[in-house]
Amino acid sequence: MKITSVQSHVLAYDLPEELGYSQQYYARRTAHLVEVQTDEGITGWGECFGPGNIALANKGIVEKVIQPMILGDDPLDRDVIWHKVYNLMRDHGQKGMSMQALSGVDIALWDIAGKVAGLPIHKLIGGAHRTEVAAYGYAMMLKRESLADHLARFTDEAAAIKDAGFAATKMKVGLGPKEDVQLAEAVRKGIGDDFPFMVDANHCYTTSDAFYVGRAVEDLNPYWFEEPVAPEDLDGYRELRAGLKINISGGEAEFGRWGWRQILENRGLDIAQPEVCGLGGISEYLRVLALCHAHFTPVINHVWGSAVSVAANLHLLAAMPAMPGGLFPWQPMLEFDTTDNRFRDDLLTTPLDIQGQVKATGRVQVPTGPGLGVDPDRAFIERFEVTG
Ligand SMILES: [Mg+2]
Repeated sequence: MKITSVQSHVLAYDLPEELGYSQQYYARRTAHLVEVQTDEGITGWGECFGPGNIALANKGIVEKVIQPMILGDDPLDRDVIWHKVYNLMRDHGQKGMSMQALSGVDIALWDIAGKVAGLPIHKLIGGAHRTEVAAYGYAMMLKRESLADHLARFTDEAAAIKDAGFAATKMKVGLGPKEDVQLAEAVRKGIGDDFPFMVDANHCYTTSDAFYVGRAVEDLNPYWFEEPVAPEDLDGYRELRAGLKINISGGEAEFGRWGWRQILENRGLDIAQPEVCGLGGISEYLRVLALCHAHFTPVINHVWGSAVSVAANLHLLAAMPAMPGGLFPWQPMLEFDTTDNRFRDDLLTTPLDIQGQVKATGRVQVPTGPGLGVDPDRAFIERFEVTG
């Protein structure tokens, strides 16, 4: 079998309302799908992390840099291909956009391998440790509105996510340390005392501000405090983890086994959040997962993007061994963005219907079809595809 083309499809639409997190506001939803075709008619789908113009630049890397390296290669040689591409791009970026681009290609090769074998990706990895997972819903984004409006909305949105059947909820912060503590109080008010919530700072704090917010919200008992400081700030992570009672999480902006080795050896994470569509695809995710477990660091995948990303993550959550194991082991959850996302909800010929599953059972089933087990709708892709 030979690879005959490697194409990107960047999809975009205007959101019904502007959303924000601690770094920026955004008004368009983007997804970057990768399609790998073969001479035997089998097509694989993958996805690259990275919105907006990042996606368009990554499309250039996928089609103009990676495609010529691997045309004619056997798509089943995905580990050989991974290392060939990585080694040839190493001098130009061991992290960042080159790895995001490689991620989408690698996931598509796993989809092809599953389709050839007639097996879902979690079976290729080694089987399902669980066939369904709980999901946590996040919303509570920042908007160009007053603090009072934020507080009222955060209370309402948190309550709505709890009512929708999710197992936990996650909020954004980033208005400022004092305001952010009030936001966390508003979320706790919306969900009551026993429902888990998490705080995601998207690395907007200095270490001292992160200590202030972390200590102020400790009594609200958040499950984790995500990306409190910049991903490069290894000292800050280590000091925060040692000094706060809350779990420190992060890693969505880390790439590859070498970057992950460094942040794990730094001992700054209670919970690791690898992003499979960014860190190097499924091949590299499995190596990073092994590294995390070698450091006895539990993993809850970072999930963002279209239904292709959600499906890939469901297979990975299924194939994740319990660590350390037991009758009632610690379990991962599926991250689920509850804000408007047509590329997740409407992309597939048979939708995953995560919201419907969560509402009915509080759980999400792992796909069982060959490969990713999902089928993107080409007419839908054509309708939303952008080229620049
Ligand atoms: Mg995050």
